[in-house]
Amino acid sequence: MDTLILVDSIQAVPDDWSPKLVMCGKVLLEENTARSFEEMRKCAEKEGIGLRVFSGYRPAGYQKELFMQSVYGYMSEGLSESDARALTARYLAKPGHSEHQTGLACDICRQDADDADESFSKTKESVWLHDNAYRFGFILRYPRMKEHITGIAYEPWHYRYVGEKHAGNIMKRGITLEEYLYYSPFENSIVKSLTID
Ligand SMILES: [Zn+2]
Repeated sequence: MDTLILVDSIQAVPDDWSPKLVMCGKVLLEENTARSFEEMRKCAEKEGIGLRVFSGYRPAGYQKELFMQSVYGYMSEGLSESDARALTARYLAKPGHSEHQTGLACDICRQDADDADESFSKTKESVWLHDNAYRFGFILRYPRMKEHITGIAYEPWHYRYVGEKHAGNIMKRGITLEEYLYYSPFENSIVKSLTID
């Protein structure tokens, strides 16, 4: 399982990607991702932080449905189809290009909330995640001011499992997965020397 797999607007989920999926609350996640989320959830709970995953693994067909629903929604507000698609693509990946199809991505919200939006970033749950998620192998995948690199607008609720070592390196350096993969020399020995303790 390549936990550093890059799925973005250019690179699609490989056809042979078939993670072992398990239930995590009401959603499916790749098994290591689910186990780590559960550890994180319990740890957060002890500190008075209630977390849950409101969206995990998405099959390709579902991603397409979400995408088109959003496109039609914008079109019903008067946008042209090309503008509606462009606006949708700022927040939702094209079918085949969503990290949610890997099973390694989870959208996290407060335990008692139904959904998340940018106001989530102001909650104590979001702050806790930002400061602690890397300890459990998760990175904030689409940070503020990095849209030009990730191609996706700031999503304070979207976390991606990459494993503890990589998550620590990425979050402590304040970079994205793209920067970590493209700009860090990537042999294991070199990555080790870049580890920040
Ligand atoms: Zn997401």
